[in-house]
This record gives sequence, structure tokens and C-alpha cells, in this order.
Amino acid sequence: MNLIIGSHVSFNNKEQLLGSVKEALSYNANTFMIYTGSTQSTSRSTINDEFTYEAYKLMLKNNIDSNNVIVHAPYIINLANRKDEDKYKFYCDFLANELDRCKSLGLNKIVLHPGSATTCSREEAIKNIIDGINYVYNKTTNIMILLEFMAGKGTEVGTSIDELKCIIDGIDDVNRIGVCLDTCHMNDSGIDISKFDDFLNEFDIKIGISKIKCIHLNDSLNNIGSHKDRHANIGYGTIGFDNLLRVVYNDRLNVPFIIETPYINRNTNESFAPYKYEIESIRNKEFIDF
Ligand code: FE
Ligand code: FE
Ligand code: ZN
Repeated sequence: MNLIIGSHVSFNNKEQLLGSVKEALSYNANTFMIYTGSTQSTSRSTINDEFTYEAYKLMLKNNIDSNNVIVHAPYIINLANRKDEDKYKFYCDFLANELDRCKSLGLNKIVLHPGSATTCSREEAIKNIIDGINYVYNKTTNIMILLEFMAGKGTEVGTSIDELKCIIDGIDDVNRIGVCLDTCHMNDSGIDISKFDDFLNEFDIKIGISKIKCIHLNDSLNNIGSHKDRHANIGYGTIGFDNLLRVVYNDRLNVPFIIETPYINRNTNESFAPYKYEIESIRNKEFIDF
């Protein structure tokens, strides 16, 4: 089994996608995930095709398949609440623009947080998400949205198989919708990762395993069902190294695994990215003590 594994890397440096590929290679990754701009704002740099071209040359040389490279939509997009119609419309158009950016980068999958219901009911929220995605699909082509399985922090929607199924069932272009699991979010939503096979069975019956297109591989700082969403380094949280290995080496899934864990020694002079070591530990099935 050829493991497809990487981490989130930065895009908004001076070399854009080329910089992302270089960073991924420095971690010995064979895939990666990017945000095409700030996660919290809507300002976006113009995509430089020269960098994209050089990035693809480097990916080709290092056997990185662009079909495994994932984009993540910014967190500020919330399609779940429509109390402010102008804002909702703005988010829809901004998401459509993000899909166009994926296209100009030659990438075909974008992870989206379904959104937070805030002041409306969950039923309304689900309808708003469906309408938003259908609107975005009408304005764009080819790019697939992967709904992320959420921890259920606050009023987050998409925190169970059933809720994700409700959204997927409303999407007109079923070929363009998929799911991105996140082990930390699943744990925090109430799922026991040590019983990952049971989860997959249920997912397969209700949605279909083929809809899982990406997995965010994170440990969690909090207990099962805490609804917190705080990521821990691989093997340093409540899920644990062996349970995360169980997810990665499950023979029913051959999808990109993306690590989104915090830097080691954050906010100090000795801060560093753990991804090279975490990827190595997953590949060798051997826990690394930092
Ligand atoms: Fe996410
Ligand atoms: Fe995630
Ligand atoms: Zn998270």
C-alpha cells in the first residue's frame, strides 16, 4: 500500500504553489494541503502562473500527484446562516472565487467547513448550506467540495454522518461532493477512533465509503465528545498513536492523509514544524518523542 501523506503547508509566501511544494518536500511528504490565502480574511493575491508551472515541474519530478493535493477554503465562509442575505451571498461568491483559484492552480478538491447555524435551526442551516453549494456549482465547473466532519463546537453543522448525509442528499451535482474526515473532530464529536471500523461500516451504509476523499490526521487535546476542536501532535493526545495508525493503515481507504497539528514549542524561539517527524513516525509505525 502506497501511503499518501503530507501536512498543511504555506502558500502565501513569495513563491506561492512552488513554495508549498518545496515545503512539502522538506517534510518528505508526497502530498500537501494549502489555503490559497489568509484563513481569516478575503484578501487574495493574484495567482502567478510562472510559479504554478515551476511547482508542477517539481511535483512531477518528485511523484506528487496533483489529484492528491488539497485546498482548504477559509474559515470565515459560513453558508449555514442566511439571516443577513448580503453576507450569505458574499460568502457564496467568495467560495465560487476560491473554486476558480483551485482551477487556475490545477487542483480539484477543496475542503469546506459546512458552517455554523448560529441564530437559525439546524434544519434551516442544512438547507442554507445545500442552496449555497448548489449556487456555487452553477457558477463553476469540475472542482469538488469536500465537506469536513466537524467537532460540533458551538453550533457547527456537519458533526455526524447523518448531518453530512442530509447535506449531500440535497446537492444537485452528486459527483462534485465528497467528505473530508478529521480524526480530532470525529473524536471531539463523540466518535471512538479505536472503533474506526464500526464508523466506516456506518458511513458506508449511509453515504458510501467512496465519498471519503481526504482525511485530516490529528490527535486531540480533549476527550471523546468534548466538542472542543483542539488538535494535538500525533500520539500526544487522547486518541493515541495506535488508534491513528489504525485509521491510516485501514485497507478500505486509500486517500490523502493531511496532518494539521501544532508546531512544537509554539511561541518560543525554538518553535519548529513537526511534520517531517510525524510523517516519518506514521511511515515507520514508530512513535517519535520530540
Ligand atoms: Fe478544517
Ligand atoms: Fe481539519
Ligand atoms: Zn480542527
